[in-house]
Amino acid sequence: DINALVREIIDLLDLEAQRKDSKVQLQTSSPQIMVKADKHKIAQVLINLISNAIHYANRNKAQITIHTNILKNKVLVEVKDNGMGIKPELLPRIFERFYRVETSRNRADGGSGLGLAIVKHILEAHGENISVQSVYLEGTQFSFLLEKSI
Ligand code: ATP
Ligand code: MG
Repeated sequence: DINALVREIIDLLDLEAQRKDSKVQLQTSSPQIMVKADKHKIAQVLINLISNAIHYANRNKAQITIHTNILKNKVLVEVKDNGMGIKPELLPRIFERFYRVETSRNRADGGSGLGLAIVKHILEAHGENISVQSVYLEGTQFSFLLEKSI
């Protein structure tokens, strides 16, 4: 159940979200959505995307929403934030290993630039892609599909 998994990850990251005074919430079309996927790997995908959304919210009271919706035989998962956004010319590079946008390089709790490369790798192993839409200084949305289970 992707919704139960999202709720688990929201709980796991709750302290970090509170530290940034951010709100993380799930919005879904159905109470329960079963998917065919590796639970631990998809948990890692959600952790990487949601913790990025928390970290790169350059303002307090950031809003982070995870949407899950059934589309025929697939399930669409979106992680959306109203943080700093990413410049369009840098977007193609963010899935590269060790790549970090300039302004993120001196983040106090400095990351390694591997989170999104891992996300992409895991989704490709599921036969899916990760896509991103971002408006600089407004926010970012990552989305991916998973196979729906009956
Ligand atoms: P790590 O995840 O390994 O701790 P990281 O967060 O820097 O380090 P990635 O998760 O791969 O690495 O992200 C790569 C870069 O993409 C980040 O350094 C940041 O500049 C940018 N980025 C990722 N997610 C967001 C987001 N939600 N909003 C703005 N920028 C983002
Ligand atoms: Mg990261």
